[in-house]
Amino acid sequence: MTTSASSQACQVKTTCPYCGVGCGVSADVTDNRLIAVSGDKNHPANLGRLCVKGSALHETTDLQGRLLQPHINGQPVSWDQATDKVARGFQETIAQYGPDSVAFYLSGQILTEDYYVANKLMKGFIGSANVDTNSRLCMSSAVAAHKRAFGADLVPGCYEDLELTDLLILVGSNTAWAHPVVYQRIVAAKKARPQMKIVVIDPRQTATCDIADLHLPLKHGSDGYLFTGLLSYLAVNEALDSSFINHHTEGFDNALQAASQFTGSVAEAAPLCGLDETDIELLYHWFSTTEKVVTLFSQGINQSSSGVDKGNAIINCHLATGKIGKPGAAPFSITGQPNAMGGREVGGLANQLAAHMDFSDPANIELVENFWQAPRIARQEGLKAVDMFQAVHDGRIKAIWIMGTNPVVSMPDADFIRDALQRCELVVVSDCVEKTDTTACADVLLPATGWAEKDGTVTNSERVISRQKGFLRPAGNSRHDWQIICSVAQAMGYAEGFQFSSPAQIFIEHAALSGFGNNGKRFFDISALAGLSERQYNEMTPVRWPQVKGAQTNPVRFFSDGKFNTPSGRARMLPVEPKAPLNQTSSRYPMVLNTGRIRDQWHTMTRTSKAIRLLNHIDQPFVDLSPVDALQYGISNNNLIEISNSLGRCVVRAKVTDGQPAGSLFMPIHWTAQFTSRGRVDSLIASVCDPIAGQPESKHCPVTIRKLEPLWQGILITDQELTDLPCEYWCKVPTQKGFRYELAGLELPENWQDWLGKLVEIGDDRIELNSSAAFRLATFADQQPELLFFASTTAVENKSLPNSAWLSKQFDQTIGSAAQRMSLLAGKPVDNNDDCGAVICSCFEVGENTIRQAISQGADSTDKLAAKLKCGSNCGSCLPEIRALLT
Ligand code: SF4
Repeated sequence: MTTSASSQACQVKTTCPYCGVGCGVSADVTDNRLIAVSGDKNHPANLGRLCVKGSALHETTDLQGRLLQPHINGQPVSWDQATDKVARGFQETIAQYGPDSVAFYLSGQILTEDYYVANKLMKGFIGSANVDTNSRLCMSSAVAAHKRAFGADLVPGCYEDLELTDLLILVGSNTAWAHPVVYQRIVAAKKARPQMKIVVIDPRQTATCDIADLHLPLKHGSDGYLFTGLLSYLAVNEALDSSFINHHTEGFDNALQAASQFTGSVAEAAPLCGLDETDIELLYHWFSTTEKVVTLFSQGINQSSSGVDKGNAIINCHLATGKIGKPGAAPFSITGQPNAMGGREVGGLANQLAAHMDFSDPANIELVENFWQAPRIARQEGLKAVDMFQAVHDGRIKAIWIMGTNPVVSMPDADFIRDALQRCELVVVSDCVEKTDTTACADVLLPATGWAEKDGTVTNSERVISRQKGFLRPAGNSRHDWQIICSVAQAMGYAEGFQFSSPAQIFIEHAALSGFGNNGKRFFDISALAGLSERQYNEMTPVRWPQVKGAQTNPVRFFSDGKFNTPSGRARMLPVEPKAPLNQTSSRYPMVLNTGRIRDQWHTMTRTSKAIRLLNHIDQPFVDLSPVDALQYGISNNNLIEISNSLGRCVVRAKVTDGQPAGSLFMPIHWTAQFTSRGRVDSLIASVCDPIAGQPESKHCPVTIRKLEPLWQGILITDQELTDLPCEYWCKVPTQKGFRYELAGLELPENWQDWLGKLVEIGDDRIELNSSAAFRLATFADQQPELLFFASTTAVENKSLPNSAWLSKQFDQTIGSAAQRMSLLAGKPVDNNDDCGAVICSCFEVGENTIRQAISQGADSTDKLAAKLKCGSNCGSCLPEIRALLT
């Protein structure tokens, strides 16, 4: 931390709280306020870069919507009362029904120190392993694949390998949007070495394809066939590394036999993957003839009913060719969340114990029991997320504590999850946000500190442990998660195991456990950090594990010596039988629904929706569909679409795009019941899971669609926050001064004024227009718009309504003259050039119309556009879209 002369201003090095890239952030803080952020030039993950979400962090730390006080049954209470209620509730439940009647559900958003004490309390002191995490939903398949192949959950490489490689295969990863800074590093590497080849394997043509030499739009869920086909090809074409196979692996013959049985040739693999033989052949040829290959895989592989096998099919190919453990050569699983890795390290999954030990070896259980001096160590695996909420629903689990996550939105079959929580006898939720779909189900609400206040460590996708620093005072009565857990543990009578007074003490215990009885048995070892003082911990700079006490050097990459973390020291090659997704389409549900992230939002939008400019790029939930399907179902851009199956029903806007293959749809995961009427995509996703990992198949869900025919559509702008609006479709979009609501109804109100008057107060200083086809009303207070409402019965294509972005801006203006008022009511800018179109560059708020105009005036490259408009010159996340406009 550096402090300025005024002593009120300082710069703090911390870590971005969003994705698994784990970028370092320099935070400029003045008088307990975050003024600005920039990328930390010394952080190895980002080297000074930030994406648009990270760049907007300083716009998200206000107290609007924060949970600031403990509550029991909706009533504010003291911390003592809340702690006592939680401790007693858990104790009484355990006394009556046993330790497996309670559960914790954690989050990849909480810090390693929070994770550590939660895991220790449940597995060491309560005596159950019912502690799971939302990381189950994003990377547990990769964890299981790593353990099967390497003997431990190890990511072999580092981000530098993505730059050093000669062939980068991105599979199941829209890196440009989900991991933007890693993508920017890849773009820069490709620019510096154009001969580096990039292959994108994804059914959709995403923004990531912008830099691809080859895009393989394979059939949904067919990745397993593609990689078993590759193993067969490598054998047939004598491209194996026999020395590596013979000296460092086991199981090769069985792996190859299985691969040959299902996909013995390119001709067999091609129809199973829905790809041209020539395209597959090209990928296989490149893989077999390139020494330095990285296969980066993510949710498109993991979120599958055979995600573990898919991970092992990828790893098999790298093992068979020795393309692992070397600069520029590795299979590389990139995680979704900022601290999914830290959670894995402490053992925060129900099938893990602690510090990369699990329940399969009684010696491990005894070791952890001794280290913790645990009175009731868990001796078997607990329930994984989907099974855990099933147990909540059927009453086997009677008390659950949810920390820093929103399962009513993010779990599959999300309505079932809400129902489960409503049935549960005791639901405790710790969160920094007051109103979420999950806090609405809580009996006890515990206010947790937010990103800028929390203090601890996180581990990113390349095993780098970074400090996340608390530089603002805890808001209101909020407390750190680790403090809350320790208080409850102490109130439950476990004072001796939870006498921590700082995150440093917890981290040091965690580091010591990693080395306890280790002697090289477990590759996860950070015992060299167990001797840190509080000051050294506070000043710790990013460090990659392993950090073994007494080691002369610690490897940057695993397996460069050919040694794996298995009993034999050899990597295991697995016989993989590729499988199609379990949930298949039918005549009733003929479309495949795929889900994922968008560029500018994070998870359930509780934080990113506070940065208004992040909603400029995409402001409403949508479904991508192909032109072929649009034609078949009579759908145009921006139509309202119903997507449904036996589990639920969503209503969102249509986006017709060539990038979406026919017969399939894509919906984002971000919208919740706080923001829209029916946009929770996980209410449609079945709880079908990988049998080993327990990870749900969130990328393949059969649905049907139909176009809705609203009788009217409208826009309401007010400073009042509303939910449950009385119409078929509503979407809340926060603006600088209030909220914009996009509306559509299947029934026409008899009287617009009455309809509106039930929602908001209508002031006297007003202008209005009322015709059979439209109703427009604006009210003012001191020449400032107070309420704007536009409804139209001819707005089915939304064309007879004003541009939403322009109208939102008017809400912030002084509207003094009669001409300005009439222009407002007309819904048109006086000067048409004021309409910049949909925002493409969120950093500098540059719209599509502005960019198109600049292109037409000669700015025919991204560099020229950046020089003229600045667009694309900060985080670079919008460059694929700018390039699309240029072409
Ligand atoms: S890529 Fe963006 S969201 Fe991810 S850690 Fe970096 S700044 Fe944060």
